[in-house]
Amino acid sequence: MAKNSDELGFTSVFRTLLKSEQEEAPHVDPTEPHASPLIIPGDVERAFENGEFRVYYQPKVLATTAEIVGAEALLRWQHPEFGVLTPNYFIPGMEKSGLIHEVGAWVLRRVSELNLAISSRITNPSWNIAVNVSPVQFGNPAYLRALLRAAKSLNLPNQLLEIELTETAVLESFNQAAELMALIREYGVTIAIDDFGVGFNSISHLARLPISAVKIDASFVGRLEHSEVDRKIVSALIRLSHDLGMKTVAEGVETMPQAQFLLEQNCQLLQGFFFGRPVPQEEFVAKLPAI
Ligand code: C2E
Ligand code: MG
Ligand code: MG
Repeated sequence: MAKNSDELGFTSVFRTLLKSEQEEAPHVDPTEPHASPLIIPGDVERAFENGEFRVYYQPKVLATTAEIVGAEALLRWQHPEFGVLTPNYFIPGMEKSGLIHEVGAWVLRRVSELNLAISSRITNPSWNIAVNVSPVQFGNPAYLRALLRAAKSLNLPNQLLEIELTETAVLESFNQAAELMALIREYGVTIAIDDFGVGFNSISHLARLPISAVKIDASFVGRLEHSEVDRKIVSALIRLSHDLGMKTVAEGVETMPQAQFLLEQNCQLLQGFFFGRPVPQEEFVAKLPAI
């Protein structure tokens, strides 16, 4: 693998990226033993009211040039005691209590405001910031319509926004997801399929939906260097997605050989710790080229 990589001249770009990444201050990892928070029902609601939630941004880069062409918005809880908590600690609780609808609205608004604030710095026509929408949020299309309308009222081109829906969620409630997607597309917002490839045999269903991009699941990317089978699967997924008119984004890219392989397979966009961890808004904006 990676035969022509140096001809493409990106090894040096990647080295620079890797160096700057290593120099970054370490982020709090809530999976470390020193922080195993006990979250009591009601805490999350209070924390949201107290403004303890943040939207972090992880860059998505063009595979060919490493140019930042958007981001994925990822929710974080700036916990006064435990530090920065990732969604696995609080999203299930939010879904159970229904708070996810309000929080989802807030995330979408924050992302739209960011797009507005940096609109003069957006030069690449394929720029977008992706927002995750969980299956529970599917159940409330009226709410989503109100949100999309609010985002539109900022007078921003709606293609600056992308909605990520996971493959399993879409396939589990196919009809509801198809309705939701039609609604999203009415607003000009694009749709990406998250964690793509896990249900490989279901691609014939997905091919019938208005999907702009698929995000190759990080589990495949993580095995690329050691597994010929995974290299073949990823290569096939990319080709098939392109043939069906969908863009490909690889998630969880952590090493240069992974990035090189994905580039050679013509995967258009890459996202992962190798290019940048999720960071607060100010840090993300600072990475963008000045006007
Ligand atoms: P996801 O949408 O699949 O997001 C990708 C996850 O992979 C993120 O985890 C990200 O931090 C992590 N990641 C990115 N690059 C790498 C890498 O190179 N290596 C490794 N090991 N991991 C990487 P995170 O932020 O913990 O989010 C977990 C999940 O929570 C997300 O999975 C998404 O489904 C959900 N989520 C995040 N924000 C929101 C939100 O605002 N609303 C909803 N409904 N769900 C959200
Ligand atoms: Mg996602
Ligand atoms: Mg994912």
